[in-house]
Amino acid sequence: TPQPPTHPLQTRLEAVHAELSGLDGGTVSTSAPALAEADPDGFGLALCTADGRVHAVGDADREFTVQSAVKPFVYALALADSGWDEVVAHVGVEPTGEPFNALVLEAETGRAPNPMVNAGAIVTCCLVAGGTAREREDRIRAGLSGFAGRPLGDDAQVREAEAAGARNRALAWLMKDGGSLPHDVDDAVDVYLFACSLLVTARDLAVMGATLAAGGRNPLTGEQVVPVDLVPTVLSVMGTCGMYDGAGSWFVKVGLPAKSGVAGGVVAVQPGQLGIGTWSPALDEDGNSVRGIAACTRLSEDLGMHEFRPE
Ligand code: GLN
Repeated sequence: TPQPPTHPLQTRLEAVHAELSGLDGGTVSTSAPALAEADPDGFGLALCTADGRVHAVGDADREFTVQSAVKPFVYALALADSGWDEVVAHVGVEPTGEPFNALVLEAETGRAPNPMVNAGAIVTCCLVAGGTAREREDRIRAGLSGFAGRPLGDDAQVREAEAAGARNRALAWLMKDGGSLPHDVDDAVDVYLFACSLLVTARDLAVMGATLAAGGRNPLTGEQVVPVDLVPTVLSVMGTCGMYDGAGSWFVKVGLPAKSGVAGGVVAVQPGQLGIGTWSPALDEDGNSVRGIAACTRLSEDLGMHEFRPE
């Protein structure tokens, strides 16, 4: 019997994957032993449309820790649970042009500069619903599972290894000193590292991105995960701050709000249209996945996705 013709988006995804699977360069993160063991050749690509069609290729179903790609989604949950006024009192919306873990806070207010860098995400993890650290972790797992459309596990080993690091705790102490950290330092860092340790796949990231593209409604499950009116805020902050010190060149090239993680994940969103999820653990000097950036760049060019292209 004849096979149905392959969907053009699937064909495009396969072509980009084939073309870039020979792309080398970058280094795998060594910030936790389990991250350092990642296969530098691992490469998964997925795409989910705002009406729920999913395409995937390569290692799209391999799990990895979401790491910083969790930040826009935690920001969305914090806005949903605490409201804009409360959130913006603690964390700003200005890009830093600095690395993700820079020891930078706003001089005047002591606020974290934005929710896409570690300082800001440590704070937004405090601003999701829950009276205890455990309750906030449950809220984050449930919320992220809502975005992904399936129950997400976590990697306790990665979390533990990262908990030994001093830098995030130092950032939290600075914010505590400035009066902008709503909870205890250890609780705040614990919940943040829990959020970073949630396990996702490139396919999950595509669905999570598509949920933002579709106004906060997961196109696979139909669940309204966060209210539609906070989505433009989340996407704006992703667009301006999501790729750290690479944020400007990223937007020029790709023209889509996006977020990377140190385990090699990237999530990108074409508002109203689709989400892209990529995974490849070798990172460039900004901490962004080399193949992930290349794949998003190529897909954006091929499919005309740059947000500021003339019609
Ligand atoms: N858990 C990592 C950290 O806090 C996340 C950083 C990242 O993915 N860029 O350092």
